[in-house]
Amino acid sequence: MKKKLLILLCILLLLFVGVISFILIKDSHKIAILGYHSVMPKEINTSGDMLVVDREKFEDELKLLKKLGYKTMTLDEYYCWKNKECKKKQKSVLITFDDGYQNNYEYAYDLLKKYNMNAVVFCVGAYATANDEIHMNMETLDKVRSEYPNIEIASHSYDMHYHSDKTYEEVIEDANKMKEIIQTEYYAYPFGDYTDEYIKALKDSGYKMAFTFGPKKEHRKSDLKDDNYLVPRLNISNDMPLWKFILRLLLPM
Ligand SMILES: [Zn+2]
Repeated sequence: MKKKLLILLCILLLLFVGVISFILIKDSHKIAILGYHSVMPKEINTSGDMLVVDREKFEDELKLLKKLGYKTMTLDEYYCWKNKECKKKQKSVLITFDDGYQNNYEYAYDLLKKYNMNAVVFCVGAYATANDEIHMNMETLDKVRSEYPNIEIASHSYDMHYHSDKTYEEVIEDANKMKEIIQTEYYAYPFGDYTDEYIKALKDSGYKMAFTFGPKKEHRKSDLKDDNYLVPRLNISNDMPLWKFILRLLLPM
């Protein structure tokens, strides 16, 4: 009876080790790319929009990443890993923000600096040049460059946010216009929407990588197998509890 129990325990142990090894091997091919939008202190975050994350919650997530030993990658480091030219630290993550909100500058970047973390913000050129006070303008983007070298600025189109029905030639024109004001080779599709023509226009304009996004899209970790112009991100919303955030980081999916 004792022998049978011992055999059963050994089988269970082997199974456990096998599952953990499988998860770790699978995970070495993947990186979680976190997609944020706005960040505001809880006391003024009253709109109910789940894309506006409480500053306190954002800080808890950064603290957790730090505690678990995650390295926050730069875009070039991510690109190098994606092209199998560089190895990654086992626990690596890429932090991104979309739209270039002014509140990122006011409430998020100081926390990223505090925890010594990198991040990228995908800005819309037409918003940055509009001085609308909701989005970082060109002057603020210059301040970001000097005050926060850990924050990279990349393209979310010049003027395709809500204007995505452009022809190949119009996308080329838009993409080049953005390259003139923000020198970058990285792009995030507005709302994660893309077409084959859109992808071709980005390639032909010299962008080397493009990120997808959107509530109807597949939210999962990026994989070495993903196309460089269809890199998926995980949406981080204000109603995501910390346990779910941890699961998204740790599970190989
Ligand atoms: Zn957007």
